[in-house]
Amino acid sequence: MTAPADVATALAALPGWIDSEMVEVIDLTHVLDDKTPPIRLPPPKVSPPRFTLRELSRYDARGEHEYWNAFETGEHVGTHFDAPVHWHTGRELEDVSAVPAQRLIAPASVLDVSDACAGDPDHLVTVDDVQDFERVHGGLPEGGWLLIRTGWDRRYGDERSFLGLDEEDRPHWPGVTVECARWLADEAPVIGLGIDCIGTDAAISHGFDPPHPAHHFLHGAGKYGMSLLANLHRLPAVGAVVIAAPLRIGGGSGSPMRALALVARGERLT
Ligand code: MN
Repeated sequence: MTAPADVATALAALPGWIDSEMVEVIDLTHVLDDKTPPIRLPPPKVSPPRFTLRELSRYDARGEHEYWNAFETGEHVGTHFDAPVHWHTGRELEDVSAVPAQRLIAPASVLDVSDACAGDPDHLVTVDDVQDFERVHGGLPEGGWLLIRTGWDRRYGDERSFLGLDEEDRPHWPGVTVECARWLADEAPVIGLGIDCIGTDAAISHGFDPPHPAHHFLHGAGKYGMSLLANLHRLPAVGAVVIAAPLRIGGGSGSPMRALALVARGERLT
């Protein structure tokens, strides 16, 4: 057990470590604007609106001293956080405002499947993939995250590519198998799953049993999701600390967020 004085010393040292880049702060967040692709669900399901800014004033007759905007967005647009209540299996569980603050700062393991996803936009991570990772890097972090790097963040500026739209405009992006989702929910010590795609489930998962298994099992188990993460290639396989900061929307199912990672200098995956 670390003595409180040692903790206080380490905490006091942290800003200096950040200043001197002994601890790097990696921004895991995409810019949120009207080019951010919202997920498109097949009708009659309702899809979220595109993020839009509405200018209130810009040092003009509407307010000579101030520039500011109002905005509209879906809760699940851009780099964002999924609370358990987002899914019907977690309907009695936490909304985004109820997620304890301590859980928003947590260690992360990063599984890189970008090579497999480059060759197959419907690639699914299996339990074996995660357990192979654990044999090399140690077990998934207790109370932390499994982050899956598919390489999709590099497609972010190109909406068709990010949604993986094929010739018939059907979407494709990677995810996890039904069994992997169940295992992460029920057997892994993590509090959630983060990914660089538009959602924690693969585009093709609407046809799975159950549909959208990462949402189904993880939220049903009170766990969380993070989507549209950026810069996962800058994280080590283990050792990063993630700060996930969704807006505290009362009753919200999730929220756009600023996601940051703290990484000891030199601890890079690639
Ligand atoms: Mn979501």
